[in-house]
Amino acid sequence: MKKTIRDVDWAGKRAVMRCDFNVPLDGDVITDDIRIKAALPSIEYLLENGASIVLMSHLGRPKGEPKPEFSLAPVAKRLSELLGKEVKFVPSDDVVDDNVKAAAAELKAGEAMLIENVRFKAGETKNDPDFAKDLASLGDIFVMDAFGSAHRAHSSTAGIADYIPAVSGFLIEKELKFLGEAVNDPQRPFAAVMGGAKVKDKIPVITNLLDKVDILIVGGGMVYTFFKSQGYSIGKSLLDEEGLELAGDIMKLAAEKGVKFMLPVDVVCADEFSNDSPYATYDVDEIPDDKMGLDIGAETIKLFTDALKTAKTVVWNGPMGVFEMDNFAVGTKAIAECLAEIDATTVIGGGDSAAAVAKFGLADKMTHISTGGGASLEFLEGKELPGIAVLDDK
Ligand code: ADP
Ligand code: MG
Repeated sequence: MKKTIRDVDWAGKRAVMRCDFNVPLDGDVITDDIRIKAALPSIEYLLENGASIVLMSHLGRPKGEPKPEFSLAPVAKRLSELLGKEVKFVPSDDVVDDNVKAAAAELKAGEAMLIENVRFKAGETKNDPDFAKDLASLGDIFVMDAFGSAHRAHSSTAGIADYIPAVSGFLIEKELKFLGEAVNDPQRPFAAVMGGAKVKDKIPVITNLLDKVDILIVGGGMVYTFFKSQGYSIGKSLLDEEGLELAGDIMKLAAEKGVKFMLPVDVVCADEFSNDSPYATYDVDEIPDDKMGLDIGAETIKLFTDALKTAKTVVWNGPMGVFEMDNFAVGTKAIAECLAEIDATTVIGGGDSAAAVAKFGLADKMTHISTGGGASLEFLEGKELPGIAVLDDK
């Protein structure tokens, strides 16, 4: 178990806290502050328990140079409003300089400040030890709470922990609890629903989950590569040539491991990749040459949801169809509604899957929606994330 902010006596201590304030901006207006709001419980906990905080984050891709359009200044302003107390912004083109160090040293218990975008410094993404040491010099204890960046070994996510103790904030604690328990200690039957576009991207996840799940359901754009590997014609559907052999291997492996492996039996096909295109449902061995599969069919929905209703734990990664187009969102919506209703632990990983669940208004019906797209994928692959590995053990 990794230490969290609950395991520290914060009185008189200064936290250096890595948040995910990578918010969408229109000029200097924050168009969605959900990530700032998500950080509040950890920040408030620290301040209420007698700590002061130096906050840090990346924003966008300034590529190692100070670029005003990626400044965190608007975040400090919004954070101050949300917290109801001033979060001082202490900018520097070097991110950390003598002025920043002095401001950190002057912080009193219950006060917080924000430093400039850590990616203004080229050393950040190189996990440069000197930059990590500079960041560590700003406080006594490192608090990692940016799950979306935990799969990166950068100075502010990993390197800093070489110099000061490291614990997680509440966001990472929650990710580890739900993603970790689902994957490593699931209530059974344990089902995984995999979808999305490319087989190649998801192979490591599927391979890792095959060792753990009882049921593996595959939908989305990657099924056509599986169908092709079985000798079916797939018309103009998505094909991942590089994934063809792997698709065959996966089906063999699933059979060897006794995993119930489920592919669609019918699919919704269109003439073109467009919501305006005419469409119809076909059995998977009858896809016409001039059509492309964009969603799972009604029989498949029944088959998949019947299987999911038996599960006690479900991990879902990847939409069942092109959910961005209403005509091809039916399968994804049906799976989301099923997960919302069943009496099981439901964990959503993957940026597009999370977006789909939100689009259908079902986000609060899931047990956990992971906030890190790439990070949750790597977690599901069974990889140890650098930003988690550096945390102190209990
Ligand atoms: P996640 O972000 O949840 O991991 P992915 O990025 O792997 O998911 O995949 C999401 C994308 O897959 C969506 O943009 C969706 O439109 C696309 N997709 C799903 N089914 C199909 C399909 N049949 N043909 C083409 N693209 C598809
Ligand atoms: Mg995606």
